[in-house]
Amino acid sequence: MPQHFDTIVIGLGAVGSATLYQLARRGAKVLGLDQFQPPHSLGSSHGQTRITRLAVGEGDEYVPLVRRSHEIWRELEAATGQSIYTRTHGLVLGPRDGAPVHQGRRHDFVHSTIDIARRHGIDHEVLDHADLRRRYPQFQLHDHEFAYWERDAGFVRPEAAISAQLQQAQVHGATVQAGVRVTGLAREGGHLRVDTTQGSYRAEQVVLAAGPWLPGLLGQELQHAWAPKLAVYRQVMFWFDVAAAAPSFEPSAFPVFIWTFRDGPDDSIYGFPIAEAGTSAFKIATAQYLETTTPDTVDRTVAGAEKDSMLQRHVLPRFQAPGAHCTDARACLYTVTPDHGFVVDRLPGWPGVHVASACSGHGFKHSAAVGEALAQQVLDLPERLDLRPFGHTLRGLAV
Ligand SMILES: Cc1cc2nc3c(=O)[nH]c(=O)nc-3n(C[C@H](O)[C@H](O)[C@H](O)COP(=O)(O)OP(=O)(O)OC[C@H]3O[C@@H](n4cnc5c(N)ncnc54)[C@H](O)[C@@H]3O)c2cc1C
Repeated sequence: MPQHFDTIVIGLGAVGSATLYQLARRGAKVLGLDQFQPPHSLGSSHGQTRITRLAVGEGDEYVPLVRRSHEIWRELEAATGQSIYTRTHGLVLGPRDGAPVHQGRRHDFVHSTIDIARRHGIDHEVLDHADLRRRYPQFQLHDHEFAYWERDAGFVRPEAAISAQLQQAQVHGATVQAGVRVTGLAREGGHLRVDTTQGSYRAEQVVLAAGPWLPGLLGQELQHAWAPKLAVYRQVMFWFDVAAAAPSFEPSAFPVFIWTFRDGPDDSIYGFPIAEAGTSAFKIATAQYLETTTPDTVDRTVAGAEKDSMLQRHVLPRFQAPGAHCTDARACLYTVTPDHGFVVDRLPGWPGVHVASACSGHGFKHSAAVGEALAQQVLDLPERLDLRPFGHTLRGLAV
């Protein structure tokens, strides 16, 4: 007889580890399964840092998620002693009268960020290029550019967040099975049966949090109309050594930033201060939406030409970083919906199955709260946060 759980969480990355933790702390009998050893570097949740910011220019509906996530990161830090969230302040930069897009959004990202900060009472300032040059001379702005500055923006450490949530989930009684790949899901005798490379399990409910594997998960049986519309894109994160100017790239001097230039698909960059004490490389990346891939076929090596292009196009012209040179680069995966939003919902036609693809390149900062809201949905508790804006049926993904 397969072992029986209240809920099985499939995938223990950002969203799955958060959901497992939140279910376990509410007393549910839960099993978390992952094909690898989370936190790992093959999905969407690796690479040292993720930006977090309260005025989420992607839309008002995200603000309660990130606010709640910040509270959860602090709770986890207190419980585990790990450093998860570092406040560095944050900049969102762009042309004052341009209309650059970001994360595929068809609107002016800097102005919409400012509007959201005003509507939600978020501590911020608007800086013109002269203010910015005085405060952050590392950024080489053009005269027509300006910036939104946010006090509570900073970075989250994704690997630490995942391991803290998995550790705390186990403290609260969760079972974690790593190195176990889920191969099938079926309804059987009023329960759900989860088949894996190491046997089957039974549960009342299942949460699918498979990140970039979600579009291909479980073959035809779960291929709803929206699944093929989730596109997976290879992205690259680059680390540039700035030893000659290291103090001006430390977290106390250098904020996280998102900088949009024009309307092209990769005409924006984002980055972070030096995140590890005793090192001297800052991380910078762009986003591309031109070529799709899959987690099983993606090229995880980064070519010398990619590193050189980032140095010549973005690092040297935009930063006071004498002697900057690339010391590391890693590929990572975005899973993107047509409107660059999230999918967090019950799976139509599959009672007891919940699906969470909270990515589209901006999901980490929200993941702790998404996990909590999903746990509340699974346990049928009054939901603290409103997940309705993320229901795929509401966003027209289903046909
Ligand atoms: C380069 C890059 C930069 C980003 N920057 C930011 C940022 O600055 N701010 C921000 O908020 N967000 C950012 N994001 C987005 C954020 O990192 C993602 O939204 C988030 O990590 C997605 O987590 P996930 O749990 O959905 O997927 P993952 O973390 O990939 O987890 C999915 C898990 O499912 C497991 N799995 C899949 N299939 C199976 C199976 N069949 N059986 C068992 N296990 C399975 C996988 O092994 C994996 O561990 C960025 C993403 C990338 C790639």
